[in-house]
Amino acid sequence: MAIHIETPVIASRALSLRTGKDVRLKLETLQPSGSFKTRGIGHACEIYRSRGAKRFISSSGGNAGYAVAYAGRMLQTPVTVVVPASTSQRAQDLIRSEGAEVIVHGASWMEAHAHAQQLMTASDAFLHPFDDPLLWTGHATMIDELARQGERPDLVICSVGGGGLLCGVVEGLQRNGWGAVPVLAAETAGAESLAKAMEAGAPTLLPGITSIATSLGARQVCDRALALTREHRIESVVVPDAASVAACEEVLLEHRMLVEPACGASVAALHSASPLLQQAQSVVVILCGSVGITARQLAQWSAEFAS
Ligand SMILES: *Cc1c(COP(=O)(O)O)cnc(C)c1O
Repeated sequence: MAIHIETPVIASRALSLRTGKDVRLKLETLQPSGSFKTRGIGHACEIYRSRGAKRFISSSGGNAGYAVAYAGRMLQTPVTVVVPASTSQRAQDLIRSEGAEVIVHGASWMEAHAHAQQLMTASDAFLHPFDDPLLWTGHATMIDELARQGERPDLVICSVGGGGLLCGVVEGLQRNGWGAVPVLAAETAGAESLAKAMEAGAPTLLPGITSIATSLGARQVCDRALALTREHRIESVVVPDAASVAACEEVLLEHRMLVEPACGASVAALHSASPLLQQAQSVVVILCGSVGITARQLAQWSAEFAS
């Protein structure tokens, strides 16, 4: 039983007219948990449970933690999510609404994460938000669907936080015979961990995260993501927060869907000067989703960046 649903891919008339390309959107934002995370995390949870896990543990207060809570309810398996005090009440309530236990511990994610590790017993499974091959294999199902849903695109655009989505997209392209399809990897300035690692040609730790796109806020990408940049045609693009917020407004206006800046970054990348983009006629954007955005928050950011 898959935990995720099959999502539609739609042609975006508005984005196609604006870019002069054939732009399609893979609507991961329609997943019941609000984001693509449910693909990889759902798959990993199923495997861990078949191996005897009695409880799932996570330390994410964002889309990953919520996806674990959702998968736990689907699999009738208890979930504990440890989050730092900075996690919004709304995010905590959402995770609890799936029946998960939420423990608030520490001021930063590092402390919450350390506490989650301490809680682990032999019968628990820990769900990493991006660095787990089971996650990548689950994420890759979005490309399996794309291959069934239509023609091979010239380019796929996806956002990069810790790189789990990128690893899944590439795995999916390769396992569908689309290994020659390049990927444009979008990040926001202040969360550009992949861009910095590609520049340095080595694992690189950002000193901090200064972007509002908190779902992209991994200070270092997983080793596999960096390795893939040498095995597959991957180009990095970094967009300002203001551009990703404007892209969220564009998606809301044109497609009536509310997404967070982590997702807007991929749409903003359509307007970048990327060489890969110049060469592409048909482009699929992974509209990766979000559970942590409200209309009010987006309006606030728009006002801030306009002033
Ligand atoms: C997790 C997430 C990302 C980044 O995914 P990684 O696997 O960490 O690279 C991007 N957008 C959204 C909405 C997410 O939830």
